[in-house]
Amino acid sequence: MMQLDIQKLDARHGQLKAVKGVSFSLSKGEIVALVGANGAGKSTLLRTIAGAHKASGGSVLLNGSNLLLKTAFQRVGLGLALVPEGRKLFQDMTVEENLLLGGVSRRAGSWTLDKIFEGFPNLLKRRHARAGTLSGGEQQATAIGRALMSNPDVLMLDEISLGLSPVAVGLVYVAMEKLTALGTTIILVEQDLSRAMSFASRIICMLEGQIVLDAPSKSISRDDVTAAYFGKHRQAQVEKH
Ligand code: ATP
Repeated sequence: MMQLDIQKLDARHGQLKAVKGVSFSLSKGEIVALVGANGAGKSTLLRTIAGAHKASGGSVLLNGSNLLLKTAFQRVGLGLALVPEGRKLFQDMTVEENLLLGGVSRRAGSWTLDKIFEGFPNLLKRRHARAGTLSGGEQQATAIGRALMSNPDVLMLDEISLGLSPVAVGLVYVAMEKLTALGTTIILVEQDLSRAMSFASRIICMLEGQIVLDAPSKSISRDDVTAAYFGKHRQAQVEKH
């Protein structure tokens, strides 16, 4: 059985169909980078899987349970966690308090407060600092740590590099490498194609709400991804007719 199985998923913003018939499945431990231009539907897709946005059709099964029948909170309990774009920390609470909140619907597993600080050593000295006073990189590490506190089977991360310095991005990815070693299944939205292709074993590219490319990173070139990104495959097909 696939760990996450998504079939014909639809999601709308009013009249706009932001996610159109998206289907893909992941086996345990797969690392997928979700790429695509601004507005392609990546955030809406992740938010719909997590239950932060309502699906208008299709199915999402996690370990065989139909997530679309569950609340966002219940989905965390079933093993799904989302690090949303823009981090969304409680700014007036400390790093530790933010992390502990992530553990409210805690599942059995190896992630504890101490393990998070081991994985993100730069957070340890900021443990009692309020989230609002942290650097971008520290905030992102806290947001990832908060998601990990629920011990997810599937971790989804939306644009973790956004607004971070190259050094901070490097630190976040070092910690992410440790996650992959633990066998956590990961879907991450990453705008930096080189980073996406080296970190993830599979690339899914979205264009206008649909998947236009889904392939192992090793079997495709940067040009293949760029062509899918800009819809050049489709344009070539149209030109032929
Ligand atoms: P980005 O990289 O800019 O975050 P994305 O690939 O994540 O892009 P989405 O943010 O999911 O794409 O947007 C998909 C479509 O839905 C776009 O056309 C966008 O304008 C629209 N959209 C997103 N959020 C809303 C909203 N809250 N209300 C109305 N339309 C929205």
